[in-house]
Amino acid sequence: MSVSPSSFAAAPDAPIPVAHGFSTRLGGVSTGVFHANNMHEKKGDTRENVAENRRRFLAGLGLDPGGLFVVEQVHGTDILDVDGLVPGQTDDLEYDGLVTTRPGFTLGVTTADCLPVLLAARNGRAVAALHAGWRGLEAGILSRGVEAVCSRAGCDPGDLWAAVGPGIAACCFEIGPEVVEAFLTRGFPDSFFHVSATGRSHGDLPGMAAWNLSRDGVVAVHRLAGCTFCEPGKYYSYRRDGWPNGLQLSVIGLRGVLQEPTR
Ligand SMILES: [Zn+2]
Repeated sequence: MSVSPSSFAAAPDAPIPVAHGFSTRLGGVSTGVFHANNMHEKKGDTRENVAENRRRFLAGLGLDPGGLFVVEQVHGTDILDVDGLVPGQTDDLEYDGLVTTRPGFTLGVTTADCLPVLLAARNGRAVAALHAGWRGLEAGILSRGVEAVCSRAGCDPGDLWAAVGPGIAACCFEIGPEVVEAFLTRGFPDSFFHVSATGRSHGDLPGMAAWNLSRDGVVAVHRLAGCTFCEPGKYYSYRRDGWPNGLQLSVIGLRGVLQEPTR
């Protein structure tokens, strides 16, 4: 099962050739702590189960599982241009975003509380998938993603569409004062932070992501409601369950057939 911001799927100005989706933990074949739709084997699930889960998820979106790129995410801001690369061979490269202009290529990021953010140029010439935990968000991964798509698509930020996927929300995202300070220093408004009844600081990660995108000039910013921590039946959450645990996969791709042999 996957979820998508319905406002994008139904948007009259949606870029027709773009397909995207955010996986949930429902509908797959994984068992135990990975039940049931785990999208990465690095925490101990079997390759076979993960491959089947990915196949089902991507097929449901009309995307070719053979065109999927993922990377080793490290909470940085580097973005990999995969246009000249081979699907399946970037898994060990350390990046936190991917960008492409090639139909048939699908970009994926895995998360279990961090935010997946997907970008598409309305002209259908480029897409990006970004992994934004608090470190990446604070360090500018979203702004770099906007630049990456605009430069390749030949468009302005106002011509982008963005979707902020499932992540930990302000209700559950407890952070230390140093994290609050880091965001404030970067110019994020203090309205994104509150102190709970127990005295802990909370941050609104999805809100800050949307604010960051808007500040950069992206007008069409869609947000998926909910919280990975609050919804154990729907999402994996590292903060709630620790490791080993499953991972959601968020993907975006330009619909089309691969033009060259890729394996
Ligand atoms: Zn929550």
